[in-house]
Amino acid sequence: MADFTYELGADGVAVITWDVPGKSMNVMSLEGFALLDSFIDQALADAAVKGVVITSGKKDFAGGMDLNVIAQMREGGAEAIFAGVMQMHKVLRKIERAGMDPKTLKGGKPIAAALPGTALGIGLELPLSTHRIFAADNPKAKIGLPEIMVGIFPGAGGTTRLVRKMGAMVAAPFLLEGKLSDPKKARAAGIVDEVVEDPVAAAKAWVLGASDADLVKPWDAKGYKMPGGAPYHPAGFMTFVGASAMVHGKTMGVYPAAKALLSAVYEGALVPFDQALKIEARWFTKVLMNPSSTAMIRSLFINKEALEKGANRPAVADQTVKKVGILGAGMMGAGIAYVSAKAGIEVVLIDAAQEAADRGKAYSTGLMDKAISRKKATEEQKEALLAKITATTDYAALAGCDLIVEAVFEDPTVKAGVTAQAEAVIPADAVFATNTSTLPISMLAKASARPEQFIGIHFFSPVDKMLLVEIIKGEQTGPVAVAKALDFVRQIKKTPIVVNDARFFYANRCIIPYINEGIRMVAEGVSPTLIENAAKLLGMPLGPLQLVDETSIDLGVKIAKATKAAMGEAYPDAAVDEVLFWMAGEGRLGRKNKAGFYTYDEAGKRGDFWEGLAAQYPEAAEQPELAQVQHRLMMAQVLEAVRAFEQGVLEDIREGDVGAILGWGFAPWSGGPFSWLDILGAARAVEICDDLTAGFGARFETPALLRDLAATGESFYGRYGAGQAAKAA
Ligand code: NAD
Repeated sequence: MADFTYELGADGVAVITWDVPGKSMNVMSLEGFALLDSFIDQALADAAVKGVVITSGKKDFAGGMDLNVIAQMREGGAEAIFAGVMQMHKVLRKIERAGMDPKTLKGGKPIAAALPGTALGIGLELPLSTHRIFAADNPKAKIGLPEIMVGIFPGAGGTTRLVRKMGAMVAAPFLLEGKLSDPKKARAAGIVDEVVEDPVAAAKAWVLGASDADLVKPWDAKGYKMPGGAPYHPAGFMTFVGASAMVHGKTMGVYPAAKALLSAVYEGALVPFDQALKIEARWFTKVLMNPSSTAMIRSLFINKEALEKGANRPAVADQTVKKVGILGAGMMGAGIAYVSAKAGIEVVLIDAAQEAADRGKAYSTGLMDKAISRKKATEEQKEALLAKITATTDYAALAGCDLIVEAVFEDPTVKAGVTAQAEAVIPADAVFATNTSTLPISMLAKASARPEQFIGIHFFSPVDKMLLVEIIKGEQTGPVAVAKALDFVRQIKKTPIVVNDARFFYANRCIIPYINEGIRMVAEGVSPTLIENAAKLLGMPLGPLQLVDETSIDLGVKIAKATKAAMGEAYPDAAVDEVLFWMAGEGRLGRKNKAGFYTYDEAGKRGDFWEGLAAQYPEAAEQPELAQVQHRLMMAQVLEAVRAFEQGVLEDIREGDVGAILGWGFAPWSGGPFSWLDILGAARAVEICDDLTAGFGARFETPALLRDLAATGESFYGRYGAGQAAKAA
């Protein structure tokens, strides 16, 4: 079985069907592309063929290029990539010209695309090279060019064709943000031509009736002018100047793909179409050779998918959750109830008072109402979702639950109480999970009669938006509980990482030192503006001071007090606490009371830094270099990730990288902390750590593992990239 098949009908229409064997979604491989090419040649050479329809044998058209192939292409180096991309251009250009006389533009064979469903990446670039695109009226289908999301850009003509079709300004959200549309919206935007019941039938009818003029793309016709204006047109000039500033503002210059895309568009707009394709190929090659795109594809696509498919799931029977009991209907419990019911799981939502349980359920009503007002859901879907949630105070309702997720107050006594109450009712083989963010799982498991069925499932807030879930194994947690947690996370369509039980698990362990380093610098007299901008220029979504404002300063105080109590003399963060406790004492609790490191207006909009901060911690006359501030902020997080791996808290660097990006927005361009270290090189990382240790103390000491990689000249992915643990279990 091959990726494409060719069939010539009695009507003279050759149908080329894309149907990659053994996959639910078509993805393009180099072999597939070569086969497609040979079928196009066949159709163009055969006098019996009047026209061609390219379609799919699956419910969708295609998910894009096989990103594993892109990873392989890179191994051949820049020349091989460029040659490979130019070959693709040649084939797609052949489809576009369809055998017509390039002078008279006559005599070509009509070629149409018929898309039954989703068409992404090369799955849209191929249709864009045909003469007409028919999409099925399938509201679930997604159409677009999402390449930018994994650190590349549409490099098989999608960039050049879309811009020439709709103009740079209109194409911008589709190219720069990877915006996806359903077929009707794609038609309204001018990406597809028609939305019909039966796209293959419509495409066949169209090719049989098409005239020579129907085959000529605007950019191949005489007198073509780019919609919205080329760069030296007064209107076009505004677009390009604006786009450049906007992209830089959004990306802080750390995403090479966005910059390269803009360059390809700008330079391409100044030259004829075939030249523009060549320019696109050059920039695409440059982006593909950049280690950032390798790392982003690896973490955000290949490894994220591997984790979602259960790369680290113990080999035990299917543990799909049918009925989940959620204890505590507060902020977290309400969110967990919503995502569970949305996944079709029956939910029992328990709180101490009926009112509180009802309030927890009402959170789902609110989210569904919002979705309905945005036309993302229907009344029926809302009713169906709400019908799945039983809000009650009665623990007897937990009978038959195969999973419990506990989200009551962060208090070991309260948690122990509800554990015993639930276990008295639930089946003997049910799994009990706690959503604690700071208490050790093994300690909480002491309240359970079945510690091997006790586990941590740590959600992030807000639950409905955050993509990561941390699963924490206690000392006695068994494989079935791990599988149960992983199957649950798969059902609710989030990405799991599995870690061992240690203070703050993984994500919070890394993010707290980042916040602390920022606060520490305030105490030292480093300009808060410098601190925040240094973080943003690293590609962190929020500076440490804005982040602590968001998560709340009193929470920081609470965590600091608990950590100090647990660590005693060894507690290293007194300098941080001085600022933090003072802020809390001044009533500056963060965004929630509209007063933190920043000021906020009545509507909650963030303003400048609070003047009182500069009065208490005046900025030093001499400020550090930007690079030093950045090294401190980055190493504070990254070294913690390395230590977690070295100590066996983290068992797989892939989880460390994916978890960092999805959990706390760690510089996505880098692919995560381990990928960042690999890009930097272990030897350089050691140098930076040694400098920081000399200047700022032991918290920057190089972990032995990192020093060892530097000594042997290895990288994290070189040694551990296939999921090997650093520490034997
Ligand atoms: P919350 O205060 O909003 O909700 C707790 C709920 O538990 C309240 O509705 C309370 O009435 C209920 N409750 C207390 N005792 C109970 C009992 N005996 N029986 C039934 N219900 C009881 O707290 P939250 O922010 O939702 O946090 C809940 C848990 O999730 C905590 O362990 C917390 O550490 C953890 N967590 C919180 C976050 C976060 O960002 N807020 C993130 C991850 C994990």
